[in-house]
Amino acid sequence: MLNIRVFTLYPDLFPGPLDIGIYKKARKKKIWDLKIVDIRDTAKDKHRTVDDKPFGGGSGMLLRPDILSSSLDRYINKKNKKERNIYLSPKGKQLDQNFLKKISKEKNINIICGHFEGIDQRLLETRNIEEISIGDYILSGGETASFVFIDAIVRLLPGVLGNKLSTIDETFEKFLLEYPQYTKPQIWEKKTVPEVLLSGDHAKINSWRLSQSEAITRRQRPDLWKKYLNKKNEKH
Ligand code: SAH
Repeated sequence: MLNIRVFTLYPDLFPGPLDIGIYKKARKKKIWDLKIVDIRDTAKDKHRTVDDKPFGGGSGMLLRPDILSSSLDRYINKKNKKERNIYLSPKGKQLDQNFLKKISKEKNINIICGHFEGIDQRLLETRNIEEISIGDYILSGGETASFVFIDAIVRLLPGVLGNKLSTIDETFEKFLLEYPQYTKPQIWEKKTVPEVLLSGDHAKINSWRLSQSEAITRRQRPDLWKKYLNKKNEKH
């Protein structure tokens, strides 16, 4: 079972969008579990203060390392190197499908959601914490990022998605975006689905899909297209 623990200032937001459909079922089946820790529980004053102004000036507030560390140390076993501790941060290494595949094999993942201007640097230096960003934009807090992160991990766990193939054929697996897909009705608003998909000829369908994927990737994502071509050339 994969145990995910989220450290947050807003525990009421959880499990939120993670409590539906396949995620809920998979939690019941004990494929994964979610525990929430309210960072404020380790605050020392009656106002449950967790933040303060940055030294040297500047806007906003920072999460204090003493409060946050006592929260983390209560739950994180420092000796357990197998435990992954992730601080969601726009300064982190950018999340991608490759990293998700690796991390989905872990047993314990701890996620720290920042707020305000972020957290004190010394915490990142003294605890075994990796910084991960979900993209080049700024959110107001790590909670929404954690939903993205957890969603993307849980669907990779064995037994969560019905069809095992569904994660193999997806966008990013081979540096290619997914080909266009169609379902019933066969004719909708006078538009029919591409003839080849009705042919029953799987070799032909696969080659049509590949050429569509290549065209879309080339048009929309020159960065992926370059990687795809490099990989293709390596093989030859
Ligand atoms: N001042 C900081 C941004 C703080 S945003 C800076 O310029 O780097 C507040 C919190 O939202 C962060 O602590 C982080 O947990 C979360 N957050 C914001 N953008 C994020 C992103 N792109 N990926 C992951 N977490 C993000």
